[in-house]
Amino acid sequence: MDVRGKTILVTGAGRGIGRSLALHFARKGASLALLDTNAEDLAESCARCSEVGVVARSYLADVANEDSVVGALDQVTADFGRLDGLINNAGIVRDALLVKVKDGQVVGKMTLAQWQAVIDVNLTGVFLCAREAAQRMIQRAVGGVIVNLSSISRAGNVGQTNYTAAKAGVAAMTVVWAKELARYGIRVGAVAPGFIRTPMVESMKPEALAKMTSPIPLGRLGEPQEIAHAVGFIFENELFTGRCLEVDAGLRM
Ligand code: NAP
Repeated sequence: MDVRGKTILVTGAGRGIGRSLALHFARKGASLALLDTNAEDLAESCARCSEVGVVARSYLADVANEDSVVGALDQVTADFGRLDGLINNAGIVRDALLVKVKDGQVVGKMTLAQWQAVIDVNLTGVFLCAREAAQRMIQRAVGGVIVNLSSISRAGNVGQTNYTAAKAGVAAMTVVWAKELARYGIRVGAVAPGFIRTPMVESMKPEALAKMTSPIPLGRLGEPQEIAHAVGFIFENELFTGRCLEVDAGLRM
């Protein structure tokens, strides 16, 4: 897809990878619909895209809430008159061991609230946004592209039962939607980043961060713009669908 003049919706666009995605596509000449739960961050992302000279609008919405998603997608199509791309980027972590043991005693476990919060945003949120975007793309009958953010952790990362389940689900849903939506000219891909320098990762304790980066073959965290570049490849390459692109500095879980 040549994204010049096309409308692309980015969820979780207030910061981190989402902001980089917004700027990447702004520099390519796309119009941006930026969705997030944080109004201040969203305004900053919007302003940065506008500086590039493209139209960028903010949508304060919660991807885990059906009414919120439907309302935001209605507004996007009313404002821009079209929706050509969706990047399902919004995500959260609520890490905990399934069962935590200290000195032979069980001292904690992943709570149902931790499980549910991550499933709601990272799995249900992706489902809701993709469903609403696909419906609108099908109605316009000019095709489109949907890219979902999975993760290297989909293979199974300690302390991330909830996140792993959601991100494995995202990779699997990508295959289903690629098959279901190909007949409408809609391609669906995923990107599975390794560890990327964003507020999500920088909020980790320094010891935990050092432990995480030491086995990375390239010896460093990825940068958000390197993930945006990979998503850009999926948009541009018309043969790409139903696959998950791994951008992880060579790390394997
Ligand atoms: P981030 O820095 O935490 O940014 C996530 C953004 O999503 C925030 O602006 C956040 O807003 C927003 N958000 C959270 N819940 C939302 C909801 N319910 N509805 C709408 N927006 C919501 O995260 P990131 O590191 O850039 O990660 C982006 C994506 O890449 C996520 O899907 C993540 O799982 C995936 N990923 C990241 C890494 C990494 O190393 N960073 C690795 C693999 C995959 P608030 O500020 O209001 O919370």
